[in-house]
Amino acid sequence: MIDPFGRHISYLRVSVTDRCDFRCVYCMSEDMSFLPKAEILSLEELERVCTTFVNLGVRKLRMTGGEPLVRRNIMWLFQQLGRHLESGALDELTLTTNGSQLGKYAQQLADIGVKRVNVSLDTLDPEKFREITRWGRFEQVMEGIAAAKAAGLDVKINAVALKGVNDVEMNDMVRWCGAGGYDLTFIEVMPMGDIGGEMRFDQYLPLSMVRAELQKQWTLKDIDYNSGGPARYVEVAETGRKIGFITPMTHNFCESCNRVRLTCTGTLYMCLGQEDAADLRGPLRASEDNDLLENAIAEAIGRKPKGHDFIIDRRRKSPAVGRHMSVTGG
Ligand code: SAM
Ligand code: SF4
Repeated sequence: MIDPFGRHISYLRVSVTDRCDFRCVYCMSEDMSFLPKAEILSLEELERVCTTFVNLGVRKLRMTGGEPLVRRNIMWLFQQLGRHLESGALDELTLTTNGSQLGKYAQQLADIGVKRVNVSLDTLDPEKFREITRWGRFEQVMEGIAAAKAAGLDVKINAVALKGVNDVEMNDMVRWCGAGGYDLTFIEVMPMGDIGGEMRFDQYLPLSMVRAELQKQWTLKDIDYNSGGPARYVEVAETGRKIGFITPMTHNFCESCNRVRLTCTGTLYMCLGQEDAADLRGPLRASEDNDLLENAIAEAIGRKPKGHDFIIDRRRKSPAVGRHMSVTGG
């Protein structure tokens, strides 16, 4: 699959549920209403869409959400998709998780062929953790991360940089990740979805400031490493681990974009920062063979936009993209 700007589309991110056992302040409001079941693709339908994408050339699948590991029977989907790893059709099957269920599932994931997990963790302070996630239990996530490590999974920590919240503990996070053997990626908070109040302006912390702060304590070496995604990487000389910086608001990384995103209702977003989308649930449910679905995917890739335009509009005080991150999975 090649889009109009010559980019190979080889990476599909799938939000398998819009539900979550946490309510992170930058991601959801506390009283979220979730989608009715009839609108959500069944696990069988998700398997069919993912397999169709693999047949069309996708080499990497990432399950996300909401929280992917709270979807009932989710291991069935991982098992089915794991077959594509065995056949060599797929290079990587992975997930982004809040870590709460890793204690339960890490070993199964490793057995299926998952090699790496991204775990979102914004703070090492249990009290702050509860404030950020509202419903999360810090100890449970720590146990989850330990289980992932014990199962032989590579763990990468994702931390959203939040002004006045975790800015004071960036150095601790680098140290902790160094000791645990985890890479670390900082993410700038993005203006997505109405989360109530004016939180977002207060939260925004440019990663240039995070980097400047880290440089006072650590030797950061620019490296060429590219995961195919939007992060720029440095290596911390003292720990040997990588730190990534995802700066959607201050940098344009769209030229090398290789990905599209599927929501749990079967909507395909060609760009995280644009509203344009294609419905795949209609063609999926309209026919048992995959011709309609394949056509709909081809048509969608044919209109993948050149790039995005995130802005936090201070006058309108509304997000540039109306949907929540838990819809497209980030
Ligand atoms: N529940 C899983 C988790 O937390 O990792 C997967 C879904 S979550 C939506 C994926 C990532 O998006 C997490 O790392 C989260 O911190 C990030 N995220 C959510 N809302 C965001 C926002 N408004 N700006 C930047 N990152 C955000
Ligand atoms: Fe749930 Fe992840 Fe959103 Fe937090 S960031 S509320 S864990 S989906």
